[in-house]
Amino acid sequence: MKVIFLDFDGVLNTDDWDPVCNADTFSAEWLAQHLNPRLVSRVATVADATGAVVVLSTSWRTAFPLCDLEQIVSWAGWNAPIIGATPQMNRQPRDYEIHVWLKRSGVTSYVILDDDEMTDDELRRRQVLCDSTRGLEEWQVDEAVEILNG
Ligand SMILES: [Mg+2]
Repeated sequence: MKVIFLDFDGVLNTDDWDPVCNADTFSAEWLAQHLNPRLVSRVATVADATGAVVVLSTSWRTAFPLCDLEQIVSWAGWNAPIIGATPQMNRQPRDYEIHVWLKRSGVTSYVILDDDEMTDDELRRRQVLCDSTRGLEEWQVDEAVEILNG
């Protein structure tokens, strides 16, 4: 199983992303407008090209249940194969939460899409580091596919 560990802020949106929020506050539709569909479609391309599934590492997972997050990403234009989320560990870095998830069997390959650099060497080699002013860029789609297929 190939896995994409997915952050939202700085990957699926940018610092200056200014959504036109015309839906009910805190509805899935309203939240989805905080994601940029163009950037969401790039992650979809990575998943389609590799058959990878998605594990959410975004802090959004601490605020909304998984079914809502699926709905939000769907509203942003992608019926993502989300299979879970990393555990929430009190005051532990995201690296640690990803390591805990990886202890499950069956992961053959993974990539981390995040705008915060991993501190762990092993994880950093599998990270596509996004710039929060640009989100996941076109050329980084190929980088992510290479990491997953490599
Ligand atoms: Mg982020």
